[in-house]
This record gives sequence, C-alpha cells and structure tokens, in this order.
Amino acid sequence: MSDLKSLGEFGLIDRIAAHGLARENGVIKGIGDDCAVLELDSDSVLLVTTDTLVEDIHFWFDRSAPEGLGYKILAVSLSDVAAMGGTPRDSVLSVSASATCDSGYLERVFEGIFACGRRYGVNIVGGDTTRTNGPLVFSLTLMGRMPADHVLYRSGARPGDRIFVSGTLGDAGAGLHLAGNDDRLAEKKREYLLRRLHRPLPRVELGRRLAESGLATAMIDLSDGLASDLGHLARASSVDMTVDLEKIPISPSLKEFCRLSRLSAQQLAVSAGEDYELALTGEPELCHKLQLNNELTCIGEVVEGCGIVRDLKSGEVLDVRGFDHFTEECST
Ligand SMILES: [Mg+2]
Repeated sequence: MSDLKSLGEFGLIDRIAAHGLARENGVIKGIGDDCAVLELDSDSVLLVTTDTLVEDIHFWFDRSAPEGLGYKILAVSLSDVAAMGGTPRDSVLSVSASATCDSGYLERVFEGIFACGRRYGVNIVGGDTTRTNGPLVFSLTLMGRMPADHVLYRSGARPGDRIFVSGTLGDAGAGLHLAGNDDRLAEKKREYLLRRLHRPLPRVELGRRLAESGLATAMIDLSDGLASDLGHLARASSVDMTVDLEKIPISPSLKEFCRLSRLSAQQLAVSAGEDYELALTGEPELCHKLQLNNELTCIGEVVEGCGIVRDLKSGEVLDVRGFDHFTEECST
C-alpha cells in the first residue's frame, strides 16, 4: 500500500486526471492549468479555480489574523484567474467548522473575504456550511470569464520567446522569515514585506491587458516560487527556459532584509512562493510595445527542450520539483 507521502501531490493529481472526462464537449482545458476553461458560447469562456485553507496546515487560530486569512483565500484564486488573462466575477464559499468554533472569528474571516471581493468586484453567490469534528476549513471556488481567443495557457511558450515577470520577487518569502521577531529591519520595510505576504495584490488588470494584446504566448501566476512555476510553464510547453538570475527584480526591502539576515535575495526570489506576481512568455518587444517597462522585467529566454529551467550562467537546473503538500511542510 502506498501513502500520499510517497505518491506526492502531483502523483495524486495525475491519478484524478487519469479518470478522464465523462463528456469532452464544452471542456476546453481541464486539469493542468491555473484555471479550468469551459465553453460559455462561441465567443467567451468560463474560468474556474478553487482553493482551500485548513487550520493548522495553512493557518493557526492563535497566530493568523482572520481578516488576512479571508482576504488571502480570495486573492490567491483571483491570481489564478489573472494568470489566464480573465476577469473574475463570482465565487462560492464552503466552511467546515466545529460546533464550538468562535463565530466572532468566522465573522472576521468573512470580513476579509468580502473586503477583497469589493476591491475586485467579486460576489459570493453561494456555497456550503458543514459541521466537522476536525480542523476549521475554508474552500472557495472562483469563476471568471474572458474572450475565448484571448486565453493564455501554460502551454503556449515557444523557442525565441522572452520570459517576463511582474513586480518584484521573494518579498512574500522574506515576510515568512519575518514571522519571528526581527526588529533590525526598518519599520516601513518590515511592513512592506509582511504586507506582500498577507495582502498580495493579484495582477488582474495586467493579466487582462497581456491577454488582450495578443503578444504574450503563455502565462502562470507565481504561487509556488519562480523556479517551480516556470517549470510548470516549461513542461506544459515542451520547451526549456534559461533564466538570468541577476535580472530577477528584487525590492529594496528584500535587499536590506537579506543583508541583515545573511540570506541570499536571489535565492529567495527564485525559490520562495506566494508572491502572486505573473510570469509569462512572449515576443521580445512585448514590454516596449505595451509600454510595460515599469511593470514587467525580462529575465530570460525560451529555448528548444523538454521542460527544464536552467540558470543562464552556470547551466544549473533550477526547478527540481514544485511545492508538494504531501511531502513538504507547509510554511504559511
Ligand atoms: Mg496558479
């Protein structure tokens, strides 16, 4: 008998996917991208993504701010819709709680969800509530829509494309390290890194603009970390990717944090997750043509290959594997 630790998260997903579809009609993309893509009508598609937060795995009653928890469960789903280039619309929320659960705590989680919903124009239109004897669980399914011919899949990268990322990377990873007490870092920089971890700003507008432009070829959001998320893009597109580590955008706050803690900013930017920025591929002139030089940074190039991400200078393989919920300790 094999357990999930040996099967791994991706092995489990493969087992589910192996069952195939009961009906192929209307399913444009099933398992294997940031969202499922379903046919709505001849011009537009429905995007669907879901996320779950479990007590003592993703959050802790005594140390996670409930409003932040609520905000984040919707924000991470928004980021998946942004990664396809879509417009988020409506969501359903399921809550499993024990009969002794503090209703005031739940109310504060809901405040966080609804605050994020108001900011991005997303409704909660239904869901489910169940009693459990186990941990508190929130599960949110978000739906979005977009024109069918604009969808950016993970599989569209082609040799000769450049690789771009939005914003700065590694900040949320530094925010995790800050969860302990470290008051050597200036208050503003500390707040910035923690905000990047707890209040990510999914790049919905940018994703939509890139999809509409027709100049991007593939896109993913950075939830697991640059190396592993680029690995997903590279494997889905059957290409290799070379990344110039020195070009990865790093914030002044991260630089200062890493100087004080003797950590490598580059290492955090490559391997730490939860930045919820976008990584995409597209034609070399994309930034210039869309006047996105302030929002996007070119960090590498797509080359012929079979799904490997390498450091341009050393040739070292960067994406050993993605984050696995069953084989690794969760860090949030
Ligand atoms: Mg994603």
